Amino acid sequence: SFSNSSSSTCEDHHQPPPKNNNRVINLDHGDPRVYEAFWRETGEKTTIKIAGWQSMSYFSDVSNVCWFLEPEFAEEVVRLHRVVGNAVTEDRHLVVGTGSSQLFLAALYALSPTNSPQPISVVSASPYYSSYPSMTDYQKSGLYKWGGDADKFDISGPYIELVTSPNNPDGFVRRSVLNRSEGLLVHDLAYYWPQYTPISSPSNHDLTLFTLSKTTGHAGMRIGWALVKDKEVAKKMTKFIELNTIGVSKDSQLRAAKVLRAVSDSCKLQGGGESFFQFSHKIMTDRWKQLREAVQRSNGFFSVPTFSPSFCTFFNQNLVPHPAFVWLKCEKNVEDCESFLRGYNILTRSGTHFGVSQQYVRISMLDTDENFMHFLHRLSTINFR
Ligand code: PMP
Repeated sequence: SFSNSSSSTCEDHHQPPPKNNNRVINLDHGDPRVYEAFWRETGEKTTIKIAGWQSMSYFSDVSNVCWFLEPEFAEEVVRLHRVVGNAVTEDRHLVVGTGSSQLFLAALYALSPTNSPQPISVVSASPYYSSYPSMTDYQKSGLYKWGGDADKFDISGPYIELVTSPNNPDGFVRRSVLNRSEGLLVHDLAYYWPQYTPISSPSNHDLTLFTLSKTTGHAGMRIGWALVKDKEVAKKMTKFIELNTIGVSKDSQLRAAKVLRAVSDSCKLQGGGESFFQFSHKIMTDRWKQLREAVQRSNGFFSVPTFSPSFCTFFNQNLVPHPAFVWLKCEKNVEDCESFLRGYNILTRSGTHFGVSQQYVRISMLDTDENFMHFLHRLSTINFR
């Protein structure tokens, strides 16, 4: 659920406010607060002013397949992919969405056969992003239905496979696992950015999803985009958004354009000045170093994935991934890792939501500095004997 359970019990007047070490640390969601410091620094450069008379029409560019796509936003998306080198944008239709979540549903709608008696199966290799099953099934669509772990999928015929790379929750680089001729692929590349993973080459798939939420941390703007090869698929995705929300907030697209432009500009700074990706990569490197030290101190009680280095074409050097989440495993005598950590007032998301055992939990690495430091400190208070 998205309710915030990290708030204090101050409303309960019968109890004193919790002391610092009783405070609940909520790292269940991947709320990307970690980048706020960078955007505070940029100040006026990324402030936009929208007059009362602006952004009033439903329409942005009626000559585009995606008629509600703001040209300024489209331009900055293409430019940033070129600067980072993480996606081919040539011969692609760009579809903007209210977060990549809306585009995920638009993609399922667009890829599902319309004349099939049975809904098409939607699969993803476990551990998969915990929202996929519920987002696929909550409306009990007749077009598509959740088919579970792609590695165990043995029904013949067409299917949609979701490929998340690097993967949420575990951070590993992925490819499709089924590779059958009747498979339709959706690549969710929310985390294919240099602060999380080495950029190996520009992604070049049929249908790729990106989101501002994880790129720059502006989750609240609710902006995502899809790069779509097939014009008919792009048209159907656009139709879905038309039926769903008649377009995507222009105010958000204009603000997103401004933020993306600042990111690209920061990468082009000559002689000094830290780029957004240098800033974010440094923070993620530092957090992972501290996290691994804390895990080491647990003497084998906890384990986390290890990653080998690979060449990053953006930073021009060999680097190891620093995923947006820790995929933590309780190794010893603890069956339910989420409950165990809840006992220390640390809220995480159990492996069961990702299609695996409750020995695993996912923990956000993108929260505020304050919460992250509290988290490390809280880990140090656990008695591992
Ligand atoms: N895909 C993945 C893999 C994610 O982790 C997230 C955010 N947690 C999303 C999609 C959705 O992002 P948004 O709707 O904010 O763009």
